[in-house]
Amino acid sequence: MRAPERYGRVREGHAQRLALATERLRQAAQAHPERVVLATSLGAEDMVLTDLIARHRLGIKLATLDTGRLHASTLEMLPRIEARYGLKVRVYSPPAQAVIHFVRERGLDVMRESLAGRQACCALRKLEPLQRLLDGHTAWVVGLRRGQSSNRAEQPFETVDETGRCKLAPLADWSQADVWHYIGEHQVPYNPLHDAFHPSIGCEPCTRAVALGEDERAGRWWWEHASAQECGLHPVAGAHQQDTEVHAA
Ligand code: SF4
Repeated sequence: MRAPERYGRVREGHAQRLALATERLRQAAQAHPERVVLATSLGAEDMVLTDLIARHRLGIKLATLDTGRLHASTLEMLPRIEARYGLKVRVYSPPAQAVIHFVRERGLDVMRESLAGRQACCALRKLEPLQRLLDGHTAWVVGLRRGQSSNRAEQPFETVDETGRCKLAPLADWSQADVWHYIGEHQVPYNPLHDAFHPSIGCEPCTRAVALGEDERAGRWWWEHASAQECGLHPVAGAHQQDTEVHAA
């Protein structure tokens, strides 16, 4: 069974959540002209956001991180997005020399040796390129949802970091069923790994399939304690948070 049929379902209030998410994106484009970017993981939620941005011709750029450890099917999403929407996704990678040095010193699979090793790998391959991706932007859009894990249960629609940059999560109140209903209804392209029980897709060595009923992010860094299962792109606490009132146009 394909992911849209497996996970998708019309839930009460879906149309309203869709209208509000679209309005949040529209307001972000208006409030941050040329300075707002969707940091896409190329996963299901970010494909919904990509579709909304393209469908409504919103002035929100697309960018992603190529850590050097992604699945081939994830990288194949780049030409698929371009073919479907005519949109280019800008790709940010860690510096090649730094990666060579890191692997020589720490090994390729340092993430399995300790939490510190895993966090060092994420810092090099994700956090440093993310800073370059965000440079010059006053807002970024992400696909975080409250239902993805207990770590994200309080995810607000908007946070502001210490530099004043806004982080917007227009799908914060969407469920997995909402996401896959939208993808099925609008024939949105998606990573075929989602059909193979990968609700959340990250780097290849750090992602596995999950069983039905498991937490959506149970397949990410599954050998670690659940409270540690974030890569640092989306710290759980610390940022000033504000939920803004948005009314669908
Ligand atoms: S998710 Fe895994 S492979 Fe990717 S950067 Fe983090 S530790 Fe490294």
